[in-house]
Amino acid sequence: APRIGILALQGDVREHARTLRGLGAEAVPVRRAEELETVQGLVLPGGESSVIDKLTRTFGLREPLVAAIRGGLPVYGTCAGMILLADRVEDAIAGQQTLGGLDVTVRRNAFGRQNESFETTLPVPALGPVPVAATFIRAPEVTGVGPAAEVLARLEDGRIVAVRQGALLATAFHPEVAGEDRFHRLLLDLARERG
Ligand code: GLN
Repeated sequence: APRIGILALQGDVREHARTLRGLGAEAVPVRRAEELETVQGLVLPGGESSVIDKLTRTFGLREPLVAAIRGGLPVYGTCAGMILLADRVEDAIAGQQTLGGLDVTVRRNAFGRQNESFETTLPVPALGPVPVAATFIRAPEVTGVGPAAEVLARLEDGRIVAVRQGALLATAFHPEVAGEDRFHRLLLDLARERG
């Protein structure tokens, strides 16, 4: 079984661990650079991207994470995790950095106050014909996609909410909250391919 790390500085680490273990993967929290070296794939959970960003620097994880992403480690970012993977962020907090890797622009908290959280189903053709259960919690949206990245899903109004670039996957929503495991399955496939 592939060993998948979950960046465990802040955010919904447990839900990802449950989903990964349900798929037969070994799921381990990552808080130190040495732990990062032992995994074949990584989840960047939802939470608060500016806080996670700060903590990666406090924990000496920023450089190792950037290097791992550059080196081709399969990584799946949900919500705040998507923001961390994005090369460009709109409405970032002053001083907020990302790890980058995904050639996209995201806008934080893009869904407005009256509709900060909602659940929906949306088609993700790359994952098969059955629509995906998606929970949006103060979610970002992807406002720009560079040539290297691929759109995996849009809301009915056209807003982009899932993207892929090689071994990097990102969703604005939380599938793990609704028991949806197909993005995690894809991450495991990428981790197995890499060996
Ligand atoms: N609004 C949060 C941020 O900007 C993301 C919310 C989430 O991860 N559910 O980081």
